[in-house]
Amino acid sequence: MLGLMQDWPLLMHRIIDHAAFNHGARKVISRSVEGPIVTTDYRTIRERALKVAKRLAKDGIGFGDRVGTLAWNGYRHLEAWYGIVGIGAVYHTLNPRLFPDQIAWIVNHAGDRLIMTDLTFVPLLEKLAGRLTSVERYVILTDAAHMPETTLKNAVAYETWLAEADDDFAWVEFDENTAAGMCYTSGTTGDPKGVVYSHRSNVLHSVMANNPDMLGLASRDVIMPVVPMFHANGWSLALTAPMAGATMVMPGAKMDGASIYDMLDRHAVTCSAAVPTVWLMLLQYLEQNPAARLPHLKRVVIGGSACPRAVTQTFRDVYDVEVLHAWGMTELSPLGTVCSMKPEYQDLDKEAWLDVKQTTGHAPFGVDMKITDDDGKRLPWDDKTFGRLKVRGPAVAKSYFKGDGGRILDDDGYFDTGDVATIDPYGYMRIVDRSKDVIKSGGEWISSIDLENIAVGHPDVAEAAVIGVHHPKWDERPLLVIVPKAGRTPDRHSLLTFMEGKVARWWLPDDVVFVAEIPHTATGKILKTALRAQFKEYKLPNA
Ligand code: AMP
Repeated sequence: MLGLMQDWPLLMHRIIDHAAFNHGARKVISRSVEGPIVTTDYRTIRERALKVAKRLAKDGIGFGDRVGTLAWNGYRHLEAWYGIVGIGAVYHTLNPRLFPDQIAWIVNHAGDRLIMTDLTFVPLLEKLAGRLTSVERYVILTDAAHMPETTLKNAVAYETWLAEADDDFAWVEFDENTAAGMCYTSGTTGDPKGVVYSHRSNVLHSVMANNPDMLGLASRDVIMPVVPMFHANGWSLALTAPMAGATMVMPGAKMDGASIYDMLDRHAVTCSAAVPTVWLMLLQYLEQNPAARLPHLKRVVIGGSACPRAVTQTFRDVYDVEVLHAWGMTELSPLGTVCSMKPEYQDLDKEAWLDVKQTTGHAPFGVDMKITDDDGKRLPWDDKTFGRLKVRGPAVAKSYFKGDGGRILDDDGYFDTGDVATIDPYGYMRIVDRSKDVIKSGGEWISSIDLENIAVGHPDVAEAAVIGVHHPKWDERPLLVIVPKAGRTPDRHSLLTFMEGKVARWWLPDDVVFVAEIPHTATGKILKTALRAQFKEYKLPNA
């Protein structure tokens, strides 16, 4: 016997419909790339998203086509997402911080037919355009007055392009399992891999994220997603906020302490989300400006890499703000766990409370977790035993775009996160290490393997290893460890000069040390854990 309830496909554009009809006048406030603060609302966002959909269709973009977006957080980017998905096309966020070769590779792999870009990235795209073979048109997210001279193919100012359509358009209806969005993982080993979100996974994920034990947004909230929409599905805030009817504050390109404070204060933001580096910059700004307070801010979501204890403590003790430490991955849409307090942990003293807050918290309904040994055997949740962290759920990837990477689930349908973790008896998970040795700098990934491969190309180098060492601002920065060839004496300058231009500038190691040998595992791999222990106290020259 089947249930007799309606078949209401979980389509992403229903979220903006809900926001427009139930919270239509709620503001979306953006720091525009052109400069001024622009205020719009959910009703207008929906109207303009309908125009985006109609206008895309006029350009021949349709079901299943990928539309790249290279843009900061702002109202036009938000409209674009909903317009794209509203005709069954797929938004594909491009991370401008990647090395240009990687961006080109990703655009071609995804087969983006149209790219919507902020003014900021026009010069970058002009350099790459000759190689972006699938792209037929570039829509610059600005108006005619700010439209630059450009060599980009069929380039048009977004506002001019949009004016060629009206909002007399109905969303297209289709299966909820249709692709809605794409985001590539940063590819620590091999090429980046495309994660493909469906309408269903995006909608379910937002419902999960709005659980009060998770982000728990409400219509009374003013949420500022500092985390860019091009990071791990934008932590899904472009969906969870309109679903809740919360006011949105979009910071645009400016993420320094003063700019973030200005937006928090001026728009009475109650909740915000970003990687630890952003909060370190904000706290530093506040320290230098003692008159600046945070009377409106109630909670900040911090994830992407481990949140330092001092950040959680300062927010609590000085500003009366609760840190929600979160763990997630691009492959998880991205939320895996959030550290909110269950009743068992409600009445802890201040230090014990901070201990719990150092974990990444517990999973919502919709994320099943387990830790296993290398043979896949489940390990106990005793807060001590650590194992491979694996997850499954309706918003967890089951494979990558075009089947890259092959089978990624175990026999029970769990995805191996590549992280190593412990879980306590109440379900609080703690990341112990990453099985990949990626370096997280300001929330971005730096591949240690790529850097090593380049460094060993230097004529005087026998072996190279790169590890992340602590940096007060960027969380981690790469340290290059070199074993010189016998009889050779390369210096720091010659190595860094050699690497320059082969990777993005911010990937370059902050320092180089020379050693007689690098520790190895039994199978000849570099033993990163030992190396990290050896350089635990290492002070980078710019730290
Ligand atoms: P990404 O897909 O770029 O979001 O990166 C996901 C990875 O970031 C995870 O597999 C973890 O290794 C790491 N990560 C995310 N959040 C945290 C956190 N709160 N603490 C430690 N590592 C984290």
